Amino acid sequence: MQLGRLIVLTGPSGVGKGTLLRSLLQRHPELYFSVSATTRAPRGGEIYGRHYYFTSREQFQEMIKNGELLEWAEFAGNCYGTPRKAVEAQIAQGQSVILEIELEGARQIKQTFPAALRIFILPPSEAELERRIRSRGTDSEEAIARRLRRAKEEIAAANEFDIQIVNDDLEKTLDRLEAAVFSIS
Ligand code: ADP
Ligand code: 5GP
Repeated sequence: MQLGRLIVLTGPSGVGKGTLLRSLLQRHPELYFSVSATTRAPRGGEIYGRHYYFTSREQFQEMIKNGELLEWAEFAGNCYGTPRKAVEAQIAQGQSVILEIELEGARQIKQTFPAALRIFILPPSEAELERRIRSRGTDSEEAIARRLRRAKEEIAAANEFDIQIVNDDLEKTLDRLEAAVFSIS
């Protein structure tokens, strides 16, 4: 059987990755979204097992020690990682898998899965990125400042990726993302 494809979606916090992914998965329920583990506290409306596996620092350290994570990184004071087992099982069954992860994790995937398709989502401008983070209304001022600092570092690395897509108009961006994922143009 043909192996599934690993697709990595990266870009600064607040650029719209989650929004794009939700719509892409609605259009393509055959794609498998890898639910990450994180030590971050849930935001309002986030569901265990659907958005993240919310874990303690101790549990997260155990997962690292036991080799259960395909990649992991620290982001804005919290740990995030991709559980290995589900991803490998889906790919072995011919199912394509999407990871929505930050820059360091995406770099690790390039080492472990060189064939992965890595896509970077860019904001139309830094001002618009800040507006989107604020409009989400879920982060403290301190968290917003940290995310904006980190965003500049991430954006500077966009050229490391196979494809860059600017998330200006949502519907148009979704079409571009879909074309990239299915390599049609
Ligand atoms: P991320 O997952 O990258 O952190 P989100 O998907 O949470 O980002 O989006 C951050 C905010 O930006 C949300 O309020 C979302 O509705 C908004 N947003 C996403 N894409 C667009 C877009 N193309 N135009 C305007 N607002 C957008
Ligand atoms: P948020 O706290 O906004 O949900 O996520 C913060 C950042 O962590 C985002 O850039 C998101 O893509 C990233 N992230 C989510 N899950 C993972 C993961 O499993 N591994 C890595 N490396 N980053 C992740």
